Amino acid sequence: MWQAEVRVDLDAIRDNVAILRAGTTAEVMAVVKGDGYGHGMLPSARAALAGGATWLGVATLDEGLALRRGGLSDVPVLAWLHSPGMPLHDGVAAGIDLSAGSPHLVGELVAAARRAERTARVHLKIDTGLARGGATPAEWPVMLEDAAKAQADGDLEVVGVWSHFVAADSPGHETIDRQLAAFADALATAERFGIIPRYRHIANSAATLTRPDAHYDLVRPGIAVYGLSPVEGETFGLRPAMTARARVAQTKRVPAGQGVSYGHTYVTERETTLALVPLGYADGVPRAGSNAGPVQLGGKRRTVAGRVCMDQIVLDVGDDPVVAGDVATLFGPGDDGGPTADDWAAVVGTINYEIVTRFGSSRVPRVYD
Ligand code: PLP
Repeated sequence: MWQAEVRVDLDAIRDNVAILRAGTTAEVMAVVKGDGYGHGMLPSARAALAGGATWLGVATLDEGLALRRGGLSDVPVLAWLHSPGMPLHDGVAAGIDLSAGSPHLVGELVAAARRAERTARVHLKIDTGLARGGATPAEWPVMLEDAAKAQADGDLEVVGVWSHFVAADSPGHETIDRQLAAFADALATAERFGIIPRYRHIANSAATLTRPDAHYDLVRPGIAVYGLSPVEGETFGLRPAMTARARVAQTKRVPAGQGVSYGHTYVTERETTLALVPLGYADGVPRAGSNAGPVQLGGKRRTVAGRVCMDQIVLDVGDDPVVAGDVATLFGPGDDGGPTADDWAAVVGTINYEIVTRFGSSRVPRVYD
């Protein structure tokens, strides 16, 4: 018997990747960082590979090493976010591709390669406008010179040159073309330093779905792998993989005028039934969903009554015959008219990425279909 669970439909992940794969001639790197956007890194990675992904993308070295420990020993993996002094030699030894976003990182990767006694596989990152990771235009030639020398010495192999979009989720945004032009420039400069990478990549989910001219040799979708759309109002035929639900713990009849939950921010208008759902902010329910978040229960969409607590929320179900044990769905694929992660994101002022990531990294058991 279960009380609350996060169900993950691995077939949906596989099928979503197959859709992405069918839309491009590039290879697909499934981004599985953040514990697979809350869906579980290893099961999501395996499902994505079954759908046709040939690469896996993660942020941290630890995530990359966890993929290797999990048995994915031969799949190309790129890890891209490294503070100084990280044990990059472990990544080199494990055959993980590592990103260098500054000349300093190139130096660290040379040291890591020597320590691991193995050539480091490196992707050089150019910042084309996001102003997050990556070399600035001024740093780029310096980094290329260092990388070209290290490649000639056998310490590094430059496998990729890459960048990341500012606003590909707003198709037509003026930054997209500007970044593509800057990326093309950066590649041309790399060529002048003798660096012609096998993999050039810049496309996240949104660009994978809307900008074929940005696909280059490899696309890096994340959110679309999990069936959620990066572009408002479009589904692209993707199927959301995560459902968050719980069984009603208790119901009670209360009179009109009853304040509900901490602070009594909700007051019943008439005699009614309250249903207690055992999911709260410790499980991923945003507290901003107080008196706002949608929940499907007894075949109808309800709104959280009063404040979201750490472990529980309350629903006002009127005179409907809801009983303890009935299943309340906070979000899922939405095919039965129930709420989706997008609905929650809209209500609490965030993005679907944050909703699924929160639920997946909570105490709620994850169950795989
Ligand atoms: N590439 C990089 C560098 C990222 O940080 C991310 C995620 O934020 C992705 C690709 C995937 O982005 P999305 O989930 O929007 O497809």
